[in-house]
This record gives sequence, C-alpha cells and structure tokens, in this order.
Amino acid sequence: LHDITERRRLADQREQLLEQEQLQVRQLRELDKMKDDLVAVVSHELRNPIGVIRGYTELMAADPDLPEVLRQDLTVIDHTSARLTHLVDDLLDLAQLDAGKQFHLVPLDPGPLIQDAVRTHRITASARQVTLISEVEPLPVIPGEPRRLQQVLDNLLSNAVKYSLPGGTVTVTARHHDDRFVLTIADTGIGIPAEQYPHLFDRFFRASTATGLGIKGTGLGLAVTKAIVEAHDGTISAEPGTDGGTRFIVSLPARVQLTAEL
Ligand code: ADP
Repeated sequence: LHDITERRRLADQREQLLEQEQLQVRQLRELDKMKDDLVAVVSHELRNPIGVIRGYTELMAADPDLPEVLRQDLTVIDHTSARLTHLVDDLLDLAQLDAGKQFHLVPLDPGPLIQDAVRTHRITASARQVTLISEVEPLPVIPGEPRRLQQVLDNLLSNAVKYSLPGGTVTVTARHHDDRFVLTIADTGIGIPAEQYPHLFDRFFRASTATGLGIKGTGLGLAVTKAIVEAHDGTISAEPGTDGGTRFIVSLPARVQLTAEL
C-alpha cells in the first residue's frame, strides 16, 4: 500500500513539473513575440523621421550659396542618417524574417544580378584602391526573390570592400555545381581571428580585427544575409581566404525543373 501511495505521489509531482515547464515555455514564447513586435514597430516608426532628416539635408545641400563649412556639417548629418537608415532597415528585415515572412520566389537568372552588383561596388572599391574581379560562369535559372538576393550580394560585397586595405583584391566567383548555385566572395583584407568565426553570423557580432581598426558597423548585415539565404533553402559559410582575408560561400538550390512550377 505504501508503495502505491509513493508511486502516485511521484507521478503527481512529475505532472506538476511538466505543467510548470509548459507554462514557462508559453511565457517565453509570448515574451519572444513581444520583443519581435516591439522591434518591428520601433524600426517602422523610426523610418519616416529619418527620411525627413535626409530629405531636408539634401534640400539644404542643394543651396549654391551654402558656406563650405556648413556643407561639410551637412555631409556628416547625411552620412550619419544614412547609417541609421541602414540599421533600421536591417532591424526591420530581421523582425520580419523572425516572424516567418514568406518570400515570393520567382525563376531568375543570377548572372545579371551579380554583374549589376559588381558594377555598383566597383566604384566604391576603386575609390579605396581595391580591385574587384568577377568570374561568372553561364548560370542556371534559380528560384529566388531578386530584391533579397541583391541584398545578399550588396552586404557581402560591401563588407569585402569595407574590410579590405588599399591594394587589396576582391574576387567574386559564381558557378553551377551539382544542382547548386555557388557564389564565392573572397577578399585579401583584414581577416577574422580563427576563434571568432563561429560567432560571425550572430546578431551584433563584430570581429576584433574590425573594431581594432575603428571600422564602423552594426554587426547586423551578416545576420540578415544568413536569414535571407536560409529562407531560400540555401547555406552560407565563411573561412580564411587563401591570400589572407576572408572568403564567404553561398550555396543555393538551382533546381531547374522546379522553376516551371513557380
Ligand atoms: P558590420 O559590417 O556592419 O559590422 P556585418 O554583420 O556585415 O556587420 O559583419 C559582422 C562582422 O563580421 C563585421 O563587423 C566584421 O568584423 C566581420 N566581417 C564581415 N565581413 C568581413 C570581411 N569580408 N572581412 C573581415 N571581416 C568581416
């Protein structure tokens, strides 16, 4: 009789613990959703005022009689608010991706998308005395959202240029390999300490090589990039480059036969 009572007591205790655990999971999920909603609302509400600041800055800078010293001040305001816009955009993107926003994938040819991005970034690269090379094979049509894939290219290319030193080279390679589209962006820049690679795609993470040199950033771009790549069923990784620097590899499914269904 004692045994039965003891077993029942233990079973009751286990049930109570289970209920407590389920309650905690529910509370954590609610908190997580509240955090996502808050970030989404705050970023959305910040967008408009920043837009107004940028609009007025442009308007004032257009005045031909503006004294040079004020023009320089306006440039600082413009650059700072551009950075703020970027930060808010990244936060908003992450909030939407966290909320499980679905992408509208269409059949697209990645070739022109890459060429466009390379052309745009070549301007910033040459201003920093960095050579930008692209080696793009004829590529298959892949399922993707053009604006989002452009964002992936922009983030990786701007990082490669930003974290390069004068005289450096950034090489963009795109190949079709085993039903995958493989994009590689390699630079000969400042690199990332080996032990920091595992944190590279974490939100707000910045490598000590970048902070040590005082290069500005938010540590959000790679988190957004990873989320976009994963929403395309792809993978992204980073490794030390062969000539120093860093190499990022994006692999996306290139299921050509699927495109007919899209
Ligand atoms: P941000 O560049 O705004 O700081 P990212 O999320 O794009 O944010 O990158 C996170 C960090 O990863 C950067 O701060 C930098 O330390 C490191 N990083 C990213 N790309 C490179 C690169 N090509 N070379 C060296 N470090 C890089």
